[in-house]
Amino acid sequence: HRPASTTSRSMPASDTLMRRARAVIPGGVNSPVRAFGAVGGTPPFIDAAKGAWLTDVDGNRYVDLICSWGPMILGHAHPLVEQAVQEAARKGFSFGAPSANEVALAEELVARVAPVEQVRLVSSGTEATMSALRLARGATGRDKVVKFAGCYHGHVDALLASAGSGVATFGLPDSAGVPASSAHETIVLPYNDLDAVRQAFAQHGSEIACVITEASPGNMGVVPPTPGFTAGLREITRAHGALLISDEVMTGFRCSAAGWYGLEGEQGGSAPDLFTFGKVMGGGFPAAAFGGRADLMAQLAPEGPVYQAGTLSGNPVATAAGLANLRGCTPEVYARLDVVSHAIADAASEQLTLAGVPHVVQWAGSMFSVFFRGEPVRCYDDAKDQDLAAFSRFFHAMLRQGVHLPPSAFEVWFVSAAHDDEAVNAVIDALPGAARAVTD
Ligand code: PLP
Repeated sequence: HRPASTTSRSMPASDTLMRRARAVIPGGVNSPVRAFGAVGGTPPFIDAAKGAWLTDVDGNRYVDLICSWGPMILGHAHPLVEQAVQEAARKGFSFGAPSANEVALAEELVARVAPVEQVRLVSSGTEATMSALRLARGATGRDKVVKFAGCYHGHVDALLASAGSGVATFGLPDSAGVPASSAHETIVLPYNDLDAVRQAFAQHGSEIACVITEASPGNMGVVPPTPGFTAGLREITRAHGALLISDEVMTGFRCSAAGWYGLEGEQGGSAPDLFTFGKVMGGGFPAAAFGGRADLMAQLAPEGPVYQAGTLSGNPVATAAGLANLRGCTPEVYARLDVVSHAIADAASEQLTLAGVPHVVQWAGSMFSVFFRGEPVRCYDDAKDQDLAAFSRFFHAMLRQGVHLPPSAFEVWFVSAAHDDEAVNAVIDALPGAARAVTD
């Protein structure tokens, strides 16, 4: 393998693959952020990953600060997960009939998050939020949903609505192909603004099925709820007979063994009605879930009238991987995530300060992101008010030195317990040059 270099990297094989990919895959990628649209340039195509490191098809190595956008909390190809996958795969790939791993994974989720009495397994976070929404609408007999600007819940039609800044407004579709009628049932509000929530409920309370929120948002960068915000959502939804859905697809089992709920939610009476999970609980394979109170979950087919299904739901290989990943999340793993994230965030902040680059680091447990603006970020409008060109220069300078950050200024810098001192030092060594590149 080539060592990390401070000059530009040679990527002929990635360039060739991107040309081939563009011919047969829209934009050359199967999920838009991978195309580097926000930062420019060609993405490295990854050949292999182990621990904290990615190796691209040209043999360049990178410290990975994407971690597959969250799932790889133990690092890539962790032996425990690999073994579980191989054992499961030897016994067959998909049965379309009940199997033991599904039960074990469901039990693991229920044991970890107290208000979750039952779960239904699905294959992606998008499916989890889509199904939770249908369940909330079915259970309440209401159609409208409240979401917050800057919160991403997957590419569910009703949740792809965002809105302009400021006051409560009916959402306009964020994507072509989302029916206006679908977006019209979505009320988009500014995050961390309980007055806006109160106002929306004062106007439409009897029509609102649910409020869905990221437990602690990570999709506009890390913007934790201000004290009292989540409890306020609980109070307002309960008063109006609406459900509260906490989307823990990103935070689940990463912020703590019980996700964000384990950090903020365990005061009595403030439990959300439904949760959604994904990422870490799949260990890098397609496994996700939604769950909550048993009386609500009983509304799902085959017990109740809300239909929901999946050919690959509860897939035996994916559930084996997820179970091994979760069981691998020991207290030592969470302690290491704290050490690694603070070492990297502190060094990044120090170097950006030295280079005179305005920035702010925000946290949710060990989840953090670096915003390229001087003021704290409390909502999506704040997050958008960043120096995006500065981030691009920083990003590419890190990449050239062998550190793969998420290719967007609105993302978490994900770390794993496999980020050992060598990997952390490689990041720290790259930071001074990258911080200087911002102002060069
Ligand atoms: N919800 C949240 C909070 C997410 O971060 C994501 C994905 O990033 C999703 C839902 C959608 O999950 P998936 O990409 O598995 O469909």
